[in-house]
Amino acid sequence: MPEETYGFIGLGNMGGPMAGRLLDAGYALAVYDSNQDAVARLRARGATACASLRDVADAADTVFLSLPTPEIVQQVTIGADGLIGGARAKRVVDLSTIGPRVAALVAQVLAARGILYVDAPVSGGVGGAVRGTLAVMAACPRDHYDALEPTLKHFGPVFYLGDKAGMGQTMKLANNLLSAAAVAVTSEAMAMGVKAGLDPAVMLDVINAGSGRNSATQDKFPKAVLPGTFDIGFAARLAYKDVRLCVDEAEAIGVPMIVGAAVREMLVLTTALCGDQADFTHIAKVVETWAGVPIRQRGSA
Ligand code: NAD
Repeated sequence: MPEETYGFIGLGNMGGPMAGRLLDAGYALAVYDSNQDAVARLRARGATACASLRDVADAADTVFLSLPTPEIVQQVTIGADGLIGGARAKRVVDLSTIGPRVAALVAQVLAARGILYVDAPVSGGVGGAVRGTLAVMAACPRDHYDALEPTLKHFGPVFYLGDKAGMGQTMKLANNLLSAAAVAVTSEAMAMGVKAGLDPAVMLDVINAGSGRNSATQDKFPKAVLPGTFDIGFAARLAYKDVRLCVDEAEAIGVPMIVGAAVREMLVLTTALCGDQADFTHIAKVVETWAGVPIRQRGSA
């Protein structure tokens, strides 16, 4: 029996380190990205560079995706020159965040051509992708999950969400709503404290020892806001995409998301004011500007 072969499309902030972990674990990978620099980084680590999407689908049985938006995943999988027309690909493992509706659509169209779509979004940021500590939220038929689990474990702990494409996405949207809300509301609490004279580092110590602690106070603020680097590695426009998908989904199934809608608007504003390349920790920058006070480590620039 021929050996199972693997491909990876989308080698950005998340896909680059995740593909790197598979290479480090001994997997041979055929890779593609529309950005040649991203491809060159993986080729230097031992991957085989492909000239097109279709070349990956001709070379690999299983193709991983880590792409920015639902529209791009749709185009790459079931679009005119997409993976669907490839000679070899029989399983697409989508690590991107695209929402349950597009995941279900892509799964249905691929299934009609005998290709399995595995919904497998991830959470845990660039650091988690590098260290292999991401939470992987997989949804596909159980027997396929069991076969794939050892490979997914290279990215971090794997959770089985169910047999339908989109169940992993729903889980991921709920998680990212919480993650973005934490950054937004922590920005407000911290700006208020600093403007009233508190030391932001002491504030974080207190919050992290108390009931206000969250992923922003434990991770994003100490790493990217207090030092003023705003570089956690997740674009504000992608965080906006996630919260928009979440609020849209909630509305579609009749769940109120009043706080979620406010977080979504904070992310629109952040991208509008800080630019298309803004990190999602730039939400704090928007609040700082508004409040007229930087939330910065004392003694730092
Ligand atoms: P990114 O923008 O850094 O990387 C995306 C990569 O896809 C880029 O290298 C880009 O060149 C490539 N690409 C875009 N269109 C393409 C196409 N048509 N064909 C081939 N390559 C194409 O984004 P990221 O931060 O790595 O996020 C990827 C996915 O993972 C997104 O869905 C995001 O929501 C999700 N995610 C991101 C994080 C994070 O912290 N950055 C965490 C969890 C999940």
